[in-house]
Amino acid sequence: MLHLQNYINGKLVAPASGQYLPNINPATGEVYSQIPDSGEQDVLEAIKSAEEAFLAWSNLSAEKRGRYLMRISELIDQNLDRLAEAETTDNGKPLWLAKTVDIPRASSNMHFFGTGIQHFASESHFMEGVAVNYTVRKPLGVVACISPWNLPLYLFTWKIAPAIAAGNCVVAKPSEITPYTAYLLSELCIEAGLPAGVLNIVHGTGPNVGAPLCEHPSVKAISFTGGTQTGKTIARTAAPLFKKLSLELGGKNATVIFADCDFEKTVATAVQSAFSNQGQICLCGSRILIERPLYDQFKSAFLERVKTLTVGDPMLADTKQGALVSEAHLQKVLQYIELAKEEGGVLLTGGQRVQLEGRCANGFFLQPTVFENLPHSCRTNTEEIFGPVVTLIPFDTEEDAISYANATEYGLSASVWTNDLTRAHRVSHQLHAGMVWVNTWLLRDLRTPFGGMKQSGVGREGGWEALRFFTEAQNVCVKL
Ligand code: NAD
Repeated sequence: MLHLQNYINGKLVAPASGQYLPNINPATGEVYSQIPDSGEQDVLEAIKSAEEAFLAWSNLSAEKRGRYLMRISELIDQNLDRLAEAETTDNGKPLWLAKTVDIPRASSNMHFFGTGIQHFASESHFMEGVAVNYTVRKPLGVVACISPWNLPLYLFTWKIAPAIAAGNCVVAKPSEITPYTAYLLSELCIEAGLPAGVLNIVHGTGPNVGAPLCEHPSVKAISFTGGTQTGKTIARTAAPLFKKLSLELGGKNATVIFADCDFEKTVATAVQSAFSNQGQICLCGSRILIERPLYDQFKSAFLERVKTLTVGDPMLADTKQGALVSEAHLQKVLQYIELAKEEGGVLLTGGQRVQLEGRCANGFFLQPTVFENLPHSCRTNTEEIFGPVVTLIPFDTEEDAISYANATEYGLSASVWTNDLTRAHRVSHQLHAGMVWVNTWLLRDLRTPFGGMKQSGVGREGGWEALRFFTEAQNVCVKL
């Protein structure tokens, strides 16, 4: 059986403990590989190698660093099929999704920051006749990148790329639930000739690897994407050590639909936004707010489409919904379905585990599920479920729509559907969400700030924001 390895100091190595954890394919329920069950000793080795690599890497020109990233991007492209199959095997997502979204985006992340760093200029402020200030942005040193299981290689590279482009050396930890493409990335980094220690990847659990990594005084910044509870733990660790912190956490996003929307486009995108990746995208719109005059028409068109979302083997081309990531996560989502019923929700479709035949007979599949008749303030409508479960909620006025949309502790994203341009702006500005899409969803420009308000996180990723996060400003004032 395949044994994944850590990537430390440019080499693939076994964990110091010699222990491994089983890695399960969510579509079959079978253990198909073993993951290093690393611990503090591996983390210390990785930090040491990153520290040793830092001086040379940070002194390399931005152009030369960028070339390594672009080489890695090319290798990701060349290995598209292999990486997509690995992602699907690890995560349960449809193969076509991994091939068209996850892996191409991982390549773009590398390419985007590999080129972007070459345009990252310093600012200067001239004090007429008195002095000139210039601000240099220096890499921090060793930084930690910790990522979740839902978009494994996509989010892993979204952090690593700006960190190394800016001249830092990284110790990265992918989710122990989906480590496979991170392992393959380490092979590609070796093939690309990335200098030893610039990127180190340590596999294992949050408590055994993530915690000692965050606690180590040599780690100057932590870029974390994951759950809000884990984010709180990391924030508690980081605060007294004065580490820079970027936290991309959970969401409970609203899709706000006005009666004057472009109906067909709205229904199609609302379905996509609700159920893409089995609802396991932090940006998924799981609360669908619909202006009352459109409610019945929307409901029937929405349900008709949801019923066409074939749940099946993620390797098959006509599968729309693959497996949930794990049995434990499936059980969590099923508990939320029970809660929705207890809270008075009317189940419109779905709600059941799906039993497939053949290869996928023991997989973690769930029907796409839609509820109505739940108050906007109930737990189902305010807590993150992170699965294929959505609610339809009617509203009467624009003010109601805004207040329902904002009635959660989360503030990651929202989408607004209307052909009234003024209203689109007015509503967007009143939503407590770090990202608002108007008449679209998940249309990404990597230059824009990405992140959430309230319990959805702290800081922003993307574009200059990411490069600023991974650098420290130093102002030099020269008297004339
Ligand atoms: P998680 O918080 O359980 O784990 C995320 C990562 O943190 C994993 O690598 C895990 O091993 C590690 N970790 C766990 N405990 C740790 C600790 N004490 N110290 C350091 N690291 C630790 O999250 P998950 O279940 O993997 O991912 C799902 C969550 O991620 C959802 O809440 C989702 O909304 C969120 N998410 C947010 C975004 C965003 O951009 N805002 C994107 C994707 C996912």
